[in-house]
Amino acid sequence: SLILAIESSCDEMSVAILKDKRELLCNVVASQIDTHRLYGGVVPEIASRMHVECVSTVLKTALNEADVNMNDIDAIAVTKGPGLVGSLHVGMQAAKTLALAYHKPFIGVHHIAGHIYANELVEDIEYPCLCLVVSGGHSELVYMKSEFSFEVIGQTLDDAIGEAYDKAGRVLHLPYPGGPVIDKMAASGQHTYDLPLPLNDDSYNFSFSGLKSAVINLCHNAAQRGEDIVPADLACSFQEVALDVLVSKTIKAAKDYQVKEIIVAGGVSANRGLRKKLTADSPIKVLFPPMAYCTDNAAMIASAARVMYEHQQFSSLDLSVKPSYDLEEESIGE
Ligand code: ATP
Ligand code: FE
Ligand code: MG
Repeated sequence: SLILAIESSCDEMSVAILKDKRELLCNVVASQIDTHRLYGGVVPEIASRMHVECVSTVLKTALNEADVNMNDIDAIAVTKGPGLVGSLHVGMQAAKTLALAYHKPFIGVHHIAGHIYANELVEDIEYPCLCLVVSGGHSELVYMKSEFSFEVIGQTLDDAIGEAYDKAGRVLHLPYPGGPVIDKMAASGQHTYDLPLPLNDDSYNFSFSGLKSAVINLCHNAAQRGEDIVPADLACSFQEVALDVLVSKTIKAAKDYQVKEIIVAGGVSANRGLRKKLTADSPIKVLFPPMAYCTDNAAMIASAARVMYEHQQFSSLDLSVKPSYDLEEESIGE
């Protein structure tokens, strides 16, 4: 199959063309990070306006790079949600227009299903598996009994882990997004700050707002007293405490559910500390997406759409964007 996918749920406009399971002909990503950095975070109105401005260029670049003709494409896929409503609309309209104009089957993809199937761009996922979803908006443990079957067994009760990283980055005056910067700084720091372990209980749920607040309070109190904090040490302390609970709950769930492997998905799967610790601590195989496909991109949407295409899971052209909706709704019944 030859699938053209569009991802525009947040501040990246991306178009990818995937041949069969993992022959990626192109994956063009137009990031707006430099613009949003000026505001310390994503400004939704700016994001959708910039998407409108660049969507046709990104599409043309992708088709050129892949050296394919629209007529050769088997299906058009797009992220239908969750994400920013204005941003999602731009990708949705572009995808519908292509599907209509070229008479192609149309596939609406859940953004997190995309993050998960980024893993399959490298090797086959073995089921049953447990997926740790860690991104800017999600922190979930998802049990997958079989292909494209999603059962959310635990999730964050408040902030997502990526969000906590970015807020911690902001109070440390690091450029947006703070996640990758804290990851780098943590490597050269030491765990010297005493931070609360987030929701260290028997459930599969997470909570990161307490940890986030502790970092913010620590910085504010130090500033008030005119004391300096050691950013690398705080980054290291924050990361170790966050990873501790992520890794231990993931491994516990993997044992309880007797899965064959653990797969990791979402922007925070790029985190080097997480890669190292989970791989070292897990008694079973752990799969991470390649670094280039951790944060938002259309290749991952194409990969999930490829599975849906094989299962003939097509959408009608009156599909609307879904700014928030459950991953479980996407499951393909057995
Ligand atoms: P969602 O996928 O839940 O809708 P999103 O699409 O905004 O949210 P992603 O693009 O998947 O989020 O991931 C972006 C997040 O990943 C940001 O919070 C960013 O700080 C974080 N991130 C990226 N690289 C790293 C890293 N190396 N360490 C920690 N966090 C990271
Ligand atoms: Fe994402
Ligand atoms: Mg993003």
